Amino acid sequence: MDVVVIGAGHNGLTAAIRLARAGLDVLVVDKLPWPGGMAGYHILAGRKVGVGAYVVGVMPEELREELGLSIYVPDPIAVYELDGEYVRWWRDPKKRVEEFRERGLGDEAAAFIEKLASMNRALRRLFHKPPAEEELRADPEAAELVEKTARDILSQYLPQEYWPMFIYEHLLDQPAFYLAYFNPPEGWGYPEAGGERGIWALAESLYRKALEAGARVVLGASVEKILVKNGAVEGVLTSWGKAIEARAVLSTASPIHTLLDLVGPEHLDEEAERRLRAAAAPPAGPYKANVVLAREARLREGLQQYRESILQLPFGEAVVHGDYVTLVGEPDLEALESYVLNLRDLKALEVWGPAEYTATFNAAGAYVNHLPLTRDFLLCRPGVRLGL
Ligand SMILES: Cc1cc2nc3c(=O)[nH]c(=O)nc-3n(C[C@H](O)[C@H](O)[C@H](O)COP(=O)(O)OP(=O)(O)OC[C@H]3O[C@@H](n4cnc5c(N)ncnc54)[C@H](O)[C@@H]3O)c2cc1C
Repeated sequence: MDVVVIGAGHNGLTAAIRLARAGLDVLVVDKLPWPGGMAGYHILAGRKVGVGAYVVGVMPEELREELGLSIYVPDPIAVYELDGEYVRWWRDPKKRVEEFRERGLGDEAAAFIEKLASMNRALRRLFHKPPAEEELRADPEAAELVEKTARDILSQYLPQEYWPMFIYEHLLDQPAFYLAYFNPPEGWGYPEAGGERGIWALAESLYRKALEAGARVVLGASVEKILVKNGAVEGVLTSWGKAIEARAVLSTASPIHTLLDLVGPEHLDEEAERRLRAAAAPPAGPYKANVVLAREARLREGLQQYRESILQLPFGEAVVHGDYVTLVGEPDLEALESYVLNLRDLKALEVWGPAEYTATFNAAGAYVNHLPLTRDFLLCRPGVRLGL
């Protein structure tokens, strides 16, 4: 075996496609019985519903093309409720500027939109592979991504009531990097494949392409250990009791789980172990409610026309696909009912919380990005004695 890939989430599958297309012998192993990981789906009341992610945005254009993925971007992309009105984030940057102008924000809003685009360009140029901190500081466009906070940038251009359109409150004092990361100029959208639109189209498409490329994919089985001898990786030990030799092991599981549980602290620097243990804090991550209705969701007046858009509501973000509504934020159904008027047509409901995300994906701390999005992890490459 050339490579064992741990995890059949979108990153594991994407890596497997690339490696298998390059002619390598690839085995993907995932503890879960479905492909797609946190961007996967399952069936609720006869309908496909996403278990975690619901829109795609930060995937580079070149990668989308290489993988043949189609993403449908709604227009407006997102609608943000502010004082009972809807602020629309259009696909066309000129319309974005007009929208803000109509709300009394002038040149500063236009400058902000340009700023987001330039920060995003720097992010794509330099964060393709983990850059060295000096490399970033030396680059005029990139330096402020790590030197300034999201709050520094936002407060320069926009009144505070608009900030939640662009960043979660808990990230305001983190590097401006996250502002660029969460706001790609081309926006966010829904994967499409085989006549279907929804996050499930991504997992289905990547899974099919990985198999077509010749990768083997084992679902519902875990890697228990990454085997290491004389400072080099030898393979993995699986939950079905077999050791599989491999020239390389690529883990897309959380670094906390990978390094502390699979590699083992005996191979880590003390400082790396301390930081990873500190990061594995009690779950504090998101809640997600999946609601399947007996008929099409009917939205509140004024919002119905934006039913394809990402709905940024005071208690979370909602997305509607016909009779399916998903809400990430506070799972407050009473509040949701004032937006989805026929919520009483509810056929099935499931709520995922931090404890489920932690246990299901081996994602300590329920971090949906596998590590805390804080400054001390942004440029961190924990020292590992393996020479990995
Ligand atoms: C509620 C919620 C909403 C989100 N919304 C969005 C969104 O709209 N857009 C967006 O871009 N992102 C979103 N995210 C984040 C996004 O889903 C994740 O960052 C992304 O899916 C991670 O992909 P991945 O392939 O890196 O990891 P994962 O999807 O976590 O895949 C890693 C896989 O490794 C497997 N694994 C772990 N340990 C082992 C082991 N020992 N042996 C075998 N397999 C193992 C896990 O089962 C998992 O399937 C959201 C996440 C959540 C939870």
